[in-house]
Amino acid sequence: MTGSFPQSRCRRNRLYPTIRQALMETVITPSNLVLPLFVVPGESVEEPVSSMPGVQRWSVDRLGKPVEEAMEAGVRCFLLFGIPSYKDPDGTSADRLDQPVQRALRLLRDRYPEAYLVGDVCLCEYTSHGHCGIIKEGNIDNDLTLKRLASVALSHAEAGAHAVAPSDMMDGRVSVIRQELDGSGFSDVGVWSYAAKFASAFYGPFRDAAESTPAFGDRRSHQLPVENRLEAIRDALMDQDEGADLLIVKPAGTSLDVVRDLREEARLPLGGYVVSGEHSMLAGAISAGLLREDAYLEYHLCVKRAGCSVIITYGAVDLARRVRRLLGV
Ligand SMILES: [Zn+2]
Repeated sequence: MTGSFPQSRCRRNRLYPTIRQALMETVITPSNLVLPLFVVPGESVEEPVSSMPGVQRWSVDRLGKPVEEAMEAGVRCFLLFGIPSYKDPDGTSADRLDQPVQRALRLLRDRYPEAYLVGDVCLCEYTSHGHCGIIKEGNIDNDLTLKRLASVALSHAEAGAHAVAPSDMMDGRVSVIRQELDGSGFSDVGVWSYAAKFASAFYGPFRDAAESTPAFGDRRSHQLPVENRLEAIRDALMDQDEGADLLIVKPAGTSLDVVRDLREEARLPLGGYVVSGEHSMLAGAISAGLLREDAYLEYHLCVKRAGCSVIITYGAVDLARRVRRLLGV
């Protein structure tokens, strides 16, 4: 007896290689990719992050280098993280126009009109204690933090961001930021919400790069427990209701079930953030010869296949070059 499976496999073999591209259900193109950039104070800084292979921290005057390299490869979207010139308990450097992220946004907006710029909005890189919000009596004060986050988002918009990406996971921040932007004449600035962000052990290398490791406690009060899928979906759909333009799931590779469910339930584009630990795990295993180089592409293809049209990844430039070679474009 011949079942449909062997037959169809046989047909596929016959059609391969002539029609291979047309039959691909999932293709990554450079326009799907977003490159995160770490911006630091000072001049002429081009500093490798030891825990993240191939990732560097740049001063504003050197940013042209990674941006032009990315654009050359077809990557035109950038997510900016900043290290401020000073930190204090309330993160007062986070919304100042003279700080690295705001200076970088202004410069890139002027110099590269075709680039799409997104500013990461959180306080953990700016507070002396490394938490994502304002601390009162040992806990994060949600409402005080919302005011600060709205002000940070506004400063990014004023500096030239096309979108802001609140990554703090406080309650109600998308609507507060949306109102602040609309009320200040920035209704065209989008909100990319970190809608389902798990309290993950895969963020470790990022915290080296962004100097944002909490001085005490952890982020389990406001990030999602890894165990809870339904809670993640609920949170993400709340961000949709509050006016988000894109929902980010983080870490992407360990949350493909959530991506898939959200693709069914949400009415917004989804972004998957392949986080520092996923990048370092893959890049480290490839450079040690434990994995083939195409494991990196396969991992990202699975994020796209699950339902993410946007993929934020530290390997965006290499990936873009690779897919263009593979597709012959
Ligand atoms: Zn944070």
